[in-house]
Amino acid sequence: MEHRLLHVLTAALFGLAVGSFVNVVASRLPAGRSLVRPGSACPGCGVAIVWHDNIPILSFVLLRGRCRACTMSIAWRYPAVEATTGALWALAWWTWGPTVDFAVAVIFVTALVAITAIDVEHQIIPDVITLPGIVTGLVANLATERVNWVDSALGIVVGGGIFLVIILASGGGMGGGDMKLGAMFGAFLGWKVTLVALFVAVVLGGGLALILLASGRVKRKDPIPFGPFLAAGGAVGLFWGERVIRWYLGGFGD
Ligand SMILES: [Zn+2]
Repeated sequence: MEHRLLHVLTAALFGLAVGSFVNVVASRLPAGRSLVRPGSACPGCGVAIVWHDNIPILSFVLLRGRCRACTMSIAWRYPAVEATTGALWALAWWTWGPTVDFAVAVIFVTALVAITAIDVEHQIIPDVITLPGIVTGLVANLATERVNWVDSALGIVVGGGIFLVIILASGGGMGGGDMKLGAMFGAFLGWKVTLVALFVAVVLGGGLALILLASGRVKRKDPIPFGPFLAAGGAVGLFWGERVIRWYLGGFGD
């Protein structure tokens, strides 16, 4: 047991480090900048960030959320992305341990965190993540058979198709980015779990939209990015989707 906790903690630390890179991706990918060069710099004053001010979470806490040189606030997105990625990696190790399924799971959840960070800031779900994601999900399931490959291929059609219908019926409101993310869910999760993921996303997104509308925080016409809710639904689907389906098919017993 202690052994397992140590491994989970290690997975969390790797997740934190990867989350730090996800922040770089979220900042630079939409602007088409290199992910490698130059090193991180403060967006306020341009001073290069030294390694000991670039430690996930810890540096944010020690610096009290401010740049050491110019004291400009560091966006909450940075520690939030790191913590979320770390937590998801830990949960994936807890669930799958040292298996290929763990590797596939962390690829999926890390992509979800990146998509969320980018969608919140730039209102886009980038093709450079979702399109390779569709291929990766299908190939991974072909190799591991965690999800039957027919289920996975059908998932691409169902996950993407639902959004295509919504786009055609509503004449906008949903973007092609959502559709490709839906197809990526299908590839990784299979069509049944994808339906669970989309259901969770609609409940979460609809619930928050109602709260924001009722409290007057947003107006009816204001766009609320759906990507973060889709990502949350996808993570729920990955970790608990099969269980939800068994429970549902078993007549809600157990
Ligand atoms: Zn600065």
